[in-house]
This record gives sequence, structure tokens and C-alpha cells, in this order.
Amino acid sequence: MTPTAEGVRGESVVLASANPAKAAEIAEIVGDRLLLVPRPVEVPEVVEDADTFVGNARLKARALSAATGLAALADDSGLEVETLDGAPGVHSARFAGDAATDADNVALLLERLAEFVDPSQRRARFRCVIVLHRPDGTEVVAEGEVAGHIAHSPRGTAGFGYDPVFVPDDAGGQTFAEMGTEAKHRISHRGRALAALVAALD
Ligand code: IMP
Repeated sequence: MTPTAEGVRGESVVLASANPAKAAEIAEIVGDRLLLVPRPVEVPEVVEDADTFVGNARLKARALSAATGLAALADDSGLEVETLDGAPGVHSARFAGDAATDADNVALLLERLAEFVDPSQRRARFRCVIVLHRPDGTEVVAEGEVAGHIAHSPRGTAGFGYDPVFVPDDAGGQTFAEMGTEAKHRISHRGRALAALVAALD
């Protein structure tokens, strides 16, 4: 569908992420604006070897749009820690190695930050970039971030990744994993990027 003055309501968009939790969150926020189509199983995953979030999101969205002939939506996200010069960044999923679990990544992060005691020395932010790529080559790029600090030990059981050690600012000192998914999504980098995407489509 071609964008019109009324926007692109009903435009079919293939989702790059096959992760059910992510797909559900995306559907909740942009489901009224876009007709979301699951990623066809036969389309291979692309190698995410760009050195920026936008670069990786673009790689995924372009490849999926080319493979399906439809508009495609891809996101890339990660954690940036100030005192580690932005690491783990685009390497967040594999911080402790290619086969690393979330627990391995969290353990390595806490080890790297062990000498930094004060929360002001443990500043971090989650970032998320979303790219909507259309077959005609046009793109909408949206970004969201949430700032906070890294706790000294994991707390809470909800969420995934670095959630047990990320304490967002102005949210009562709980980690993302203690807040629960609904409260997290209201302020998360992904929630904010998706809201920015919807605003950009209006
Ligand atoms: P993805 O490529 O966007 O799925 O995210 C890359 C990695 O960043 C994940 O494997 C997590 O380690 C980390 N990450 C991204 N978003 C979050 C989040 O909301 N909570 C915790 N970790 C996250």
C-alpha cells in the first residue's frame, strides 16, 4: 500500500523477529496501525555484523523485505554501559561468548563493574532502533532509550537478558526484572521506539 495523507493504516508488514514475547509486544503497540505478518520460516536469518543498532536493524529489514516483497519491520537493541565505553552495545547477546546464556552475560558485566561501587559510576542505558523498510526503498527509522544504572547483584525473575541488573531511573529503584513486563514496557527502550514509530507513521 502506498503512503497517503491518512497514513498507512492496514499496510502489511512482515516482522523480522520470530521471538514470541517481542512479537506480542510489537503487536500490542503497532497492531492498530499495521497488519503484522509473521516471518516466513523459509526465509533465512541474516548475519548481524553491522557495528551499530541502526545498521543491524536495517540489514534485517532490507533482507526480509527483499525476500518477501513486502514491507518489513526489524529491531535491534542492547545495553550500553558508560564506564565500559558503550559495551556490550551491539554485542549484548554475545557479551560472554557466542554460546553465552543471559546468566553468563550478566555475570561478566558484574565482574567488569566490580571496582565501580557508586551507582553514578554504573550508569547505563538500553537502546532500541526499529527500521521499517518498504519494497519501494523508503524507510522509517525510530529509536527509543531508557537510562538507569547497573545493580550490584541480580534481582527479580521477569523479563530476559540484563533485566535483573538494570535499574531504570525514576522507577523506585526496582530492576526491570522486579517491575514485571507490563510496567517495563511502559518505559522500555523498545516500548519507546515503537511509540516513536507509530508517531512517525501518523
Ligand atoms: P536483540 O538483538 O534486540 O534481541 O537484543 C540483543 C541483546 O540485548 C539481548 O540478547 C539482551 O542481552 C539485550 N537486551 C535487549 N533488550 C533487552 C531488554 O529489554 N532487557 C534485557 N536485555 C535486553
